[in-house]
Amino acid sequence: MEINAIVAGAGIWGCTIARRLAESGKKVLVLERRAAIGGNVRCEDRDGIEVHSYGSHIFHTHIPEVWNFIQRFTDFNGYQHKVLASYKGKAYFLPIGLTLINKFFGVELKPGEVSNFMKDEAHSRAVFNAFFRGYTSKQWGRSPEDISPSIIKRVPVRNNYDVNYFNDYWQGIPSDGYNKLFERMLEHPNIEVRCNTVFSLNTLNEIGLPLPHVVYYSGPIDALFNYKFGELPWRSLRFEVEELNVIDYQGTSVMNYPEVEVPYTRIHEFKHYHPERSEVMSAPKTVIMYEYPKQWEKGDEPYYPIDNVDSQALVARYMEEVERINHASITSGSGMRLIVGGRLGQYKYYDMDRSIEAALNVEI
Ligand code: UDP
Repeated sequence: MEINAIVAGAGIWGCTIARRLAESGKKVLVLERRAAIGGNVRCEDRDGIEVHSYGSHIFHTHIPEVWNFIQRFTDFNGYQHKVLASYKGKAYFLPIGLTLINKFFGVELKPGEVSNFMKDEAHSRAVFNAFFRGYTSKQWGRSPEDISPSIIKRVPVRNNYDVNYFNDYWQGIPSDGYNKLFERMLEHPNIEVRCNTVFSLNTLNEIGLPLPHVVYYSGPIDALFNYKFGELPWRSLRFEVEELNVIDYQGTSVMNYPEVEVPYTRIHEFKHYHPERSEVMSAPKTVIMYEYPKQWEKGDEPYYPIDNVDSQALVARYMEEVERINHASITSGSGMRLIVGGRLGQYKYYDMDRSIEAALNVEI
C-alpha cells in the first residue's frame, strides 16, 4: 500500500487521527511500540472480567463531538463511576459533598449549609488532611502545596448527595470492552497497523516513505529527540494484580486509600465495571489490582506529566524542535511534517475525551 501518513502510537489520540485520515482518503501506516494497540487503555480478559492493564479507565465526557465520534465504534454500558475512600477503617463516598461531610463530622447538613460549614478552616482542613494530603503526597511524591492546584480540582466539590465521581453526563464502559473499540477504530481498508515497531526519526528512511509526508506522533516528546535537552519528569505507577476466589472483594470498582501509612493509593476491582455481565458478577472469582505510585525511571511507563516551570520550559524547547522541522518542510516544499499529540506527546494531563477532542481538532 502506498502510504501518505504515519501515525506513531496507537493510543486514543493516534487511533482517532488514523481513523480521520483514513476516512479522508489517506493511506495510513500505524506504528505501535507495544505488542498491541490501545495505549494505556488496553485491557486483558480474565474469564469475562475486563482487567484494565494500566489502571482503571472510565470513559466520560460532556463534549457532543467526542461523544458522537466514539459512539460510532462502540456502545456503552451505562456504568456511572463512583469512588470511595477508606479512611480510618470507614468508607466514604467521594467527592466532597453531603454524603462525605455528614458522615465524617457526624452532622446532618442541608445543601444550603455546606458552604458556610466548609468556610470554617478547621472543617476544610480536616477534610483536606484526611482525604487529600496523604493521597496526594503518595501520588505525586511531594506535598500538595508543591503541585498545581488544577490537579486536586479534578475532584469536584458539591453541595448535594450526588456521589458521581465525574460531572460529565455521558459516561460508561464499552459494552464489549475497550480493546474492541480500538480494533474497530483502526478497522479500515486505508489503515495498516504494525505493532512491536518503535518509531524514531532516524528509522523513518528505512520505511521508505516518499516525501512529502506527515507524521502524527504521540509517544513521549523527549524520546522523539533522543532526550537531547534532558528527560522530562514523569510520575509512574506499579500495579499488583491478584485473582481471588470470592464473588466480591470490596463491593465497588475503586477504593482509594488516602492514609499515608498505606503504601498504595487505590485498589481496583474490575468486575464492577460490567454490572450487566450477570454471570461474571455472580461467579466466585474476582480480579483486584493494587496501585502504587512511583518516581519514573527510564524503562518505566510514563503516566502523569509533572507540571512545573522547569518541565514546561523543557517541553517548550522540544516543541521548538517540532516547529523547526515543520518550518524546514514548508520552505523546502518536500520535507516531513510533524504533528505531536496525546498525553505523552503534549506532556498534558489529558483525559480520554480531551485527547479525542484534540485529535478531532487537528487539521488533516
Ligand atoms: N486526590 C486525592 N484523594 C483522592 C483522590 C484524588 O487527594 O482520594 C487528588 C490527587 O492529588 C490526585 C488528584 O486529586 O492526583 C486527581 O485525582 P483523579 O482521581 O482525577 O486522578 P487519576 O484518576 O487521573 O489518577
